[in-house]
Amino acid sequence: VEPVPEDIKIAKSQRPKDISVIADEIRLLDSEFELYGKKKAKICLSVLDRIGNRQNGSYVVVTGINPTPLGEGKSTTTVGLCQALGAHLKKNTIGCLRQPSQGPTFGIKGGAAGGGYSQVIPMEEFNLHLTGDIHAITAANNLLAAQIETRMFHEKTQTDKALYNRLVPLKNGKREFCTIQLRRLKKLKIDKTNPDELTEDEMRKFSRLNIDPATITWNRVLDTNDRFLRRITVGQANTEKNMTRQTQFDITVASEIMAILALTDSMSDFLTRLGRIVVADSIDGEPITADDLGITGALGILLKDTIKPTLMQTLEATPVLVHAGPFANIAHGNSSIIADKIGLKLVGKDGFVITEAGFGADIGMEKFFNIKCRNSNLVPNCVVLVATIRALKLHGGGPKVEPGTPIPAEYCNENLDLVRTGCSNLIRHIENSNKFGIPVVVALNKFSKDSQKEIDLVLEISKQNGAFDAVLCENWEKGGEGGVELANAVLRASKQQSNLKFLYDLDLSIEDKIRKIAQAIYHAKDIEISESAQKKIDTLKKQGFNDLPICMSKTQYSFSDNPDLKGAPEGFILPIRDVRASIGAGFIYPLVGTITTIPGLPTRPCFYDMDIDPESEEIFGLS
Ligand code: ADP
Repeated sequence: VEPVPEDIKIAKSQRPKDISVIADEIRLLDSEFELYGKKKAKICLSVLDRIGNRQNGSYVVVTGINPTPLGEGKSTTTVGLCQALGAHLKKNTIGCLRQPSQGPTFGIKGGAAGGGYSQVIPMEEFNLHLTGDIHAITAANNLLAAQIETRMFHEKTQTDKALYNRLVPLKNGKREFCTIQLRRLKKLKIDKTNPDELTEDEMRKFSRLNIDPATITWNRVLDTNDRFLRRITVGQANTEKNMTRQTQFDITVASEIMAILALTDSMSDFLTRLGRIVVADSIDGEPITADDLGITGALGILLKDTIKPTLMQTLEATPVLVHAGPFANIAHGNSSIIADKIGLKLVGKDGFVITEAGFGADIGMEKFFNIKCRNSNLVPNCVVLVATIRALKLHGGGPKVEPGTPIPAEYCNENLDLVRTGCSNLIRHIENSNKFGIPVVVALNKFSKDSQKEIDLVLEISKQNGAFDAVLCENWEKGGEGGVELANAVLRASKQQSNLKFLYDLDLSIEDKIRKIAQAIYHAKDIEISESAQKKIDTLKKQGFNDLPICMSKTQYSFSDNPDLKGAPEGFILPIRDVRASIGAGFIYPLVGTITTIPGLPTRPCFYDMDIDPESEEIFGLS
């Protein structure tokens, strides 16, 4: 339809198939999925027991150039490519997408179901509660937060003996350690299993975690853009005996649990990673884990259903797995390994899994390879690099574009010079992708104001600079049909030999790994580590955490730390202001700038345009 209607109208105009029909089409057994209403189902991991020996399909990752704040269409292209491959070229295809956070859905950017005629439906269910995974993560994260503070309170207010007696209570006249306590004894190298045999010193060591409050890194979370929770004081009631502490909320998708969910591949690995989450250091500098707090089993119980990806469908009834949605800066911003693995088996050797990496390729793709693929041992066959004329013009020197303000004239009229200059950004991403040994197809996401000359120029420059192919995509306007050319290019690229090379070995020092990313991917001259960051690095090394991959926390708007430095900057010094670690997830994250871990609402949030009809319950304005 012309002009293309708003996303929710398109989404509503298509009646989704019952999800049990889609489940049947991808040959799931009845016992391998659980219905959540008629349009969503969770897939059980047991499916891998049945089909785990099958050959994988081709594995395609969709990434993008450094975007404008409006988003350049990675999700739209991901969904459109699935529709093109699945519905038009009749290839078994499964899309793997992240579950969006409520923050952007109600804040500035809107949902993440794709857009136009390339969407996941029902899009309101996709964008809102889905199957409750984000809520479960909120619950688990906050239970852990509550336990940290409360344990410190109990340690402060009780004698050694009282503490031990409460932690190992008498039951029918007998004391017994539970499984998680036996693990703590092992960690403390106390070789005893009878609680009555511990010496006083051992009892104290066992019971007192002695958490240093200044080192607590575990925050409470909420999936709402509530900026007033960026700094809070807890413990102000009299009952907490003046144990006040300054802390903060993060948005739920920034919780380490979300990153763990995205990187795990089984329930036992999930539990292991949850147990090793480090929440603080003790006053002696020892890392304090979720296991030490006795909470791993409870976290597993709260999270047990989150490990199952949610099956949904595109507007053209091709299957999609929605699973996890880690923040792209303090975490790795990629959809889940479990969904990708299940997808690759379900589609079979001639099929395709299309997965998405968040932010620009300097972050999303780099982490996809160095963190996600390193964890999963999967080797991708092809990178799809999404670009728009709009973002290229911005990189070429065009004026700022901001959500909620009119697009400047430069973006509505042909300007070949801006496009040509801005292609420096695209070229560097192509080169970076080639460094990893994977062929890259440039997907130019067409906007209505793009001129033919501008389009031709971008496609030509891409092909001249190392892209395996470069094609125009019209998925937004035409759905799968508008992505057939991209689908054919992906088919051809996936037949090439891919030869994945990680950028760095894990046993390099933390500093050298950061430097390698900064120099090879961003083209920084060097890095400059602040004194406090160096202290944290030294502590992490001392605690035995040197050999983890690096998850850079940097702006997505530039290769550098400065979001206004567009194109392909060279020779800058990348400041490393702070270094933190997600030990459960298994990465170290250096902070290049100040990162907001709970966004705020704009003056006019997206929700001004949203409404619901009280009679029909029809939803309006969700995008
Ligand atoms: P990303 O995943 O890169 O952040 P999205 O796919 O979510 O980007 O797209 C961002 C927004 O832009 C969405 O609202 C989408 O509907 C819209 N959009 C994407 N492609 C086009 C296009 N070709 N023309 C117009 N709007 C588009």
